[in-house]
Amino acid sequence: MAGTLGSSLPAIADEKTTTGSLTKHELPQLSYGYAELEPFIDAMTMELHHSKHHKAYVDGLNKAEAELAKARTNGDFSLIQHWSKQCAFHGGGHALHSLFWNIMAPIAKGGGVLDTCPLSDAITASFGSFEVFKKQFTAAATAVEGSGWAILHYRKNDGALIILQAENQHKLSAWNTIPLLVIDVWEHAYYLKYQNKRSDYVNAWWNIVNWKAVNEMYVKARQAE
Ligand code: MN
Repeated sequence: MAGTLGSSLPAIADEKTTTGSLTKHELPQLSYGYAELEPFIDAMTMELHHSKHHKAYVDGLNKAEAELAKARTNGDFSLIQHWSKQCAFHGGGHALHSLFWNIMAPIAKGGGVLDTCPLSDAITASFGSFEVFKKQFTAAATAVEGSGWAILHYRKNDGALIILQAENQHKLSAWNTIPLLVIDVWEHAYYLKYQNKRSDYVNAWWNIVNWKAVNEMYVKARQAE
């Protein structure tokens, strides 16, 4: 294959090097204990969610990327559709869960408190008021069909904050946006404690939002422009 893309590219000495480098994705540590989000999210749910479910997405993403590297080595892309989908699903799961853990905090560590800050100003600008924003986000989270997420995004085009639903971990997304605040509404996120009452879980979750972390991401997202 060397040379087919033009003489200005460096020559590729060994075909095996064309597979590229692989990131080893890892399960992030939490900054709080599994029991610290009680009573809003129970310890057992947190432990299973982080150590089993999120771990499975990390493993799934590593596997999918390794399989794609193998395909590049072998020149056999017959399963490209399968592994591409696996990358989107597990990659979405890994990214969203990592964000989810970061945007929560126990009340004792500042959870649930939103002081006046650039983020609170932006929420008011985009939604009219915090109350209206909270209503829309709660409604979006509660009404996700099947498994999925509600996501507050920063849209780089115009600086607006928008709320979307995501089905599974990756469907119905937007582009050129940065997710800032997410809630997992898969049943594994709440069923042990809340059973079928997803809206009770969503309403309780507002008590442990780490607004300081969300604001920091918002400020960083704006600076990145
Ligand atoms: Mn989950």
